[in-house]
Amino acid sequence: MIREDLVFVGAPDFAGRLRGKAFPRAELEKRLKSGIGWTPTNVQITCFDLIAETPFGSLGDLVMLPDPAAESRVDFDDGGPADHLLLGDIRELDGSPWACCTRTLLRSAIERLKRVSGLEPFMAFEHEFHLKGAARPHGDAYSLAGFRAQSSFLGAVIAALRAGGLQPDTIMKEYGVDQYEVTVAPALGIRAADEASILREIVRSAALRHEDEASFTPLRDPAGVGNGVHIHISFRDESGRPATYDPEAEHGMATFTGAFIAGVLKYLDAIVAITAPSVVSYTRLTPHRWSAAYNNLGVQDREASVRLCPIATKDPEAIAAQYNFEYRAADAAASPHLALAAIIHAGAQGIEEGLPTPRPTQSDLSALPPEELAALGYLRLPQSLPEALDRFAGNATVTGWFPEGFAQIYCQHKRGELAFLRGKSMAAVCADYEASY
Ligand code: GLU
Ligand code: MG
Repeated sequence: MIREDLVFVGAPDFAGRLRGKAFPRAELEKRLKSGIGWTPTNVQITCFDLIAETPFGSLGDLVMLPDPAAESRVDFDDGGPADHLLLGDIRELDGSPWACCTRTLLRSAIERLKRVSGLEPFMAFEHEFHLKGAARPHGDAYSLAGFRAQSSFLGAVIAALRAGGLQPDTIMKEYGVDQYEVTVAPALGIRAADEASILREIVRSAALRHEDEASFTPLRDPAGVGNGVHIHISFRDESGRPATYDPEAEHGMATFTGAFIAGVLKYLDAIVAITAPSVVSYTRLTPHRWSAAYNNLGVQDREASVRLCPIATKDPEAIAAQYNFEYRAADAAASPHLALAAIIHAGAQGIEEGLPTPRPTQSDLSALPPEELAALGYLRLPQSLPEALDRFAGNATVTGWFPEGFAQIYCQHKRGELAFLRGKSMAAVCADYEASY
């Protein structure tokens, strides 16, 4: 069959999807300069493909410019076309950044962090997903049998990640039914979010080539285990050296690390609308699901929203290099770029406010009565998407981190998503998200 090589350029959007257009590979050089045409209202296409209320209507034109630093080309060597994609920035026609370009929003958060601390974030995304068609019986959690049942697919994912320019770390059968997890090495700045977008597409593509479908939906079954996205964060100083750890400080948190985490916890109830932005996200973010339910820091606690990750070495240099904390209140309904922008702004805000290093909690916060929790300064995270959106929209500090109009457009987008689901049973809502992600 005749076939031309095509390249897809896409921008990570508010729905956590990559949307864009394809063109012949022979025109890539030209397209790197001229981009492809784009429309402002596209930002209001929800994960269910309906257009939410839009301030732009049918008006306006934009350009999506492919970024050669965010290119992935994977030839699966299966006779099918290679998966060739580039992430793009969305610009105004005069070349200036568009207010709703998620990659631009992340860059400005990273620049702010650099301004207030001299630090650059060094991050890795840990993704959970499930295979829709696997239908394996229970009993496979973390098992070799569960791994072996999909070893061809899992090996293809690792090879494809490497071919796509990522550094694969681990892959495993997770706890949930047909659930898997994949991790990659950390990357600096925007590259970490670019890799998260690319990774999701590579996993989906590898699954399709194995006649299955992968879904990163935050929750497949209300009674089941969620698919989390855990974002591991550390910092590098201006000379590129690890700067997260201080051996003299409590739990090793350097002053900026402590203030950054304190900022994230302080603004967490307002930023989850961005990091965990689906209806089903709020069933995942409940106690005893190993996700996150309160704005707490934990040390050896997989239910803390921010967790200091364990390090199995006594070598001080190795500790400094590996020291990181993970943000657990995220999922793949979020654009990796927007999620990181919100987290980094919250951390930078904590540094600007000079917040003291938080104390890790030592017990199950869900066992405490609400008054005791409040007296200790802990908040239950929002328990529904509308509540999360209200807390986001109602926090002028948080909305002020973003360009004029962003918060309103984002909330309109999410309210369009809510309208689509109105009246549906939880099982139907889960099925809708499973199909989208
Ligand atoms: N599946 C859990 C979540 O929803 C995470 C389990 C783990 O600690 O890996 O975040
Ligand atoms: Mg996991």
